[in-house]
This record gives sequence, structure tokens and C-alpha cells, in this order.
Amino acid sequence: MRKKIIAGNWKMNMTYEEGQILTSEIVQMAQDEQLKDVSLVLNPPFPHLHVVKKLIGGAPNVFVGAQNCSDKESGAYTGEVSAAILASFGVSYVIIGHSERREYFKENNEMLTEKVKQALAAGLQPIFCCGESLDIREAGTHEPNVKFQLTDSLFELSAEEISKVTIAYEPIWAIGTGKTASAEQAQEMHAAIRKHLASKYGKEVADSISILYGGSMKPSNAAELLAKPDVDGGLIGGASLKSRDFIDIAKSY
Ligand code: PEP
Repeated sequence: MRKKIIAGNWKMNMTYEEGQILTSEIVQMAQDEQLKDVSLVLNPPFPHLHVVKKLIGGAPNVFVGAQNCSDKESGAYTGEVSAAILASFGVSYVIIGHSERREYFKENNEMLTEKVKQALAAGLQPIFCCGESLDIREAGTHEPNVKFQLTDSLFELSAEEISKVTIAYEPIWAIGTGKTASAEQAQEMHAAIRKHLASKYGKEVADSISILYGGSMKPSNAAELLAKPDVDGGLIGGASLKSRDFIDIAKSY
């Protein structure tokens, strides 16, 4: 059975106090509303990680993740945070290759491979993002484009390593725009991603990998998206900043 994951990407939002309130509300609601079958992953900015982890405490299905990690192991890289440092703070997940990092910080496929390897070596579970721009979607080449992102960054991993990776399909034209891919568009791409993983690693491995959808997911559209057989959860930006919305998305399963 694949893991169901609802991950919140806070991006560069939330002060110290706001982050504590949001985390406490989510942990409380997850407990009160008996959200058992879904793993919730909170991905705050780096300075929040320690306190978010503490506030999560022993909640069985709430985890902390980072939004990025270095492609280097350790050393003189001012401003960077290694996967091993994250792991030492009790971080479980790390988002790698978000389209905002690819675009604004020029992260390329080769660098992302290194980040994934660093994350795995430190025992973190990478949430690897892929997705096409609007031009590519309109040109009809979205499938080969996304497959290439996966091949180029991930296909040198072993079957054991890739089994620890979660994929997030995030069409760039749907991120933060209010435009969501239709449930059919999401399912079509998720199935294509799974088939592509199977072509390299076999069906059993491909069937075990969770593929999340990201792009303006909110309580009003989550149920339809999450009902699709190859959609195993969501990576949520804007709606993850409101505890009620985040929990309602998780309850849409
Ligand atoms: C994201 O940034 O990963 C994302 C999906 O954002 P939003 O939900 O705001 O579109």
C-alpha cells in the first residue's frame, strides 16, 4: 500500500510566533479529528524546524520536512544547510527541486541528483518535484518533458534508493496561480510518471512510490484530485498556511 501524504510548503512565510500557532493547531486538529491514514508533513523555513519538531512531539502521523538542502555534504558553504544537519534536528523529509528553486536559484538536474543523494545518505525522505511550464503544456510536450526531469535527476539511483523518494508532480502553471490541473490531467500525468518509473525499476517498485499532486490544491478541489488512483496526496502551498484548510484537504481522502 502506498503512503498517503499531505505536505505543506510554507515557502518564505510565517514568523516564529505564527509558525508555532499554525503547527499547534494542525497537531491538535489531526488528533481531535482522528486523521490516521494520512501522513501530514510540515515544511517550514529552516529556522522553524526545531520548534516545529518539538511542537509535533509524539503525534504519530505528523512529520517535519525542510524546503531544500545542500548538494554538498559539509564544509565551507556559507548559508547552506546540509541534509545531515537537518536529520540531526529530527527532520524526516526534504523538498528537492521545487520549480521556484529551479527558476530563481538556477538549480539544474545534475545538482538535484546530488541533493537527492545527500538526502538519502542522511536518512531523509526526498520529495522530488517535477512539472512543466505553460509553454510546454500548450505545445503538448508535457509528458516527455516531465519524464526527462525524472530520468536526468533520478534514474542513476538504485531501486532501493528510489523506493525512498516521493515524487511531487507540480505543473508550474498551476502553482500559486489559482489554476488547478483538472483531476483528469493530474491522473494522466501521474500514470505516465508511474509507467516511466516502472520502465526503469519494474512495476513493484513503481507501484510503491507515492506521487503527490501540487498546484493550487485547496479544500474545494482536493477530493476530486485525491480520488484519482495514481494521486497519492498533495504538496500544498497557499492552503497549507491555514490550519483548517490544510486539515480539510487531508480529510478529503
Ligand atoms: C507549491 O508551491 O508547491 C504549491 C503547490 O503552491 P500552491 O498550492 O500555492 O499552488
